[in-house]
Amino acid sequence: GGGEGYLWGAVLGATLITLLKAELQDWLPKLLGTSGNFEIVVFGLLMLLVLQRAADGLWPLLAGFTRRVLKMSPDKRTLAPAGEVRLDHHALPPKGEQVLQAQKVTKRFAGLVANNEVDMDVRAGEVHALIGPNGAGKSTFFNMISGVDDPTEGQVRLKTRDMKGKPSRAFAALGLGRTFQHVRLLGERSVLDNVALGAHQRGHKGWVASMLRLDRAEEAAVLAEAMRQIERCGLGAVADTPAASLPLGQQRIVEIARALAGQPAVLLLDEPAAGLRHLEKQHLAELLGQLREEGLAILVVEHDMEFVMNLADRITVLEFGTVIAHGSPTEVQANPRVIAAYLGGDL
Ligand code: ADP
Ligand code: MG
Repeated sequence: GGGEGYLWGAVLGATLITLLKAELQDWLPKLLGTSGNFEIVVFGLLMLLVLQRAADGLWPLLAGFTRRVLKMSPDKRTLAPAGEVRLDHHALPPKGEQVLQAQKVTKRFAGLVANNEVDMDVRAGEVHALIGPNGAGKSTFFNMISGVDDPTEGQVRLKTRDMKGKPSRAFAALGLGRTFQHVRLLGERSVLDNVALGAHQRGHKGWVASMLRLDRAEEAAVLAEAMRQIERCGLGAVADTPAASLPLGQQRIVEIARALAGQPAVLLLDEPAAGLRHLEKQHLAELLGQLREEGLAILVVEHDMEFVMNLADRITVLEFGTVIAHGSPTEVQANPRVIAAYLGGDL
């Protein structure tokens, strides 16, 4: 049928673009810094543009080419039932076990200490909230513990492994899932397609190998896994709806479902309640409570104090890059330094 290669086109296109972007981000500073070779930069940007435009058409093109090379016709491919191909499943660590640990994490930007010897851990089966005024260093810390940027000093451990110098891909492969402050979904694609992307990026196999696999059983397994996460998050009724046509609250939950499809042990959520209406916040809180029950370790950066105080098991408070308080919601709310830091706020 016409839509057959649709998902894979999207997956392939999005992956290529993501990879290209990552590579360009590595190369650009070097290129501009040393030789100033603008041709390559411009070429890269053009490639990006073309890919972004052609994302839909790429897969059918590639698949057709591969079939011709392999002298294979689509109807001769074996149709295995969905149950036969299994995606890797990682068991969650036992509740209470440290999944993610930051020790004396320091980040300096020319003259500014954005994170100052920050200690924190996130345990299986808990919601840990990171709060603090604007500019306190919360986003910087998120980048430190997800491999987006490297600490100047200090150590990050994921499931007891030292993550020094590891790229964000390695964090994801080891069981770290995250959502972003601003929703990043393929708006015209269905909820199912978006979540399937997360199931596909499990990172245990080479992306070229998995992209070029013409195995329908594998595709079915990915879709089944995506559907499982969609049901888990209560989005079953909107699985076929284009993501952009959903209200913001549901889009945030789609992002969580996509992260869950990558089988994380720890989930980092950057301001998941921002911009949500009261009822949407309640749904989100219920979902996070359910995931905590299932044994996930959850770290949220959140400004909504009511949301945080009702949901979090532990709270760490940052101010000017330094941890000024840590404890239960009750302890933190009674802390004079916290009250002072939030003077004029609604804590
Ligand atoms: P928060 O997320 O708590 O609002 P951030 O982590 O974004 O705070 O920022 C902490 C401090 O570090 C701010 O003063 C910000 O201006 C600074 N900062 C963040 N990223 C950079 C950067 N890439 N270069 C220089 N300064 C930065
Ligand atoms: Mg921030």
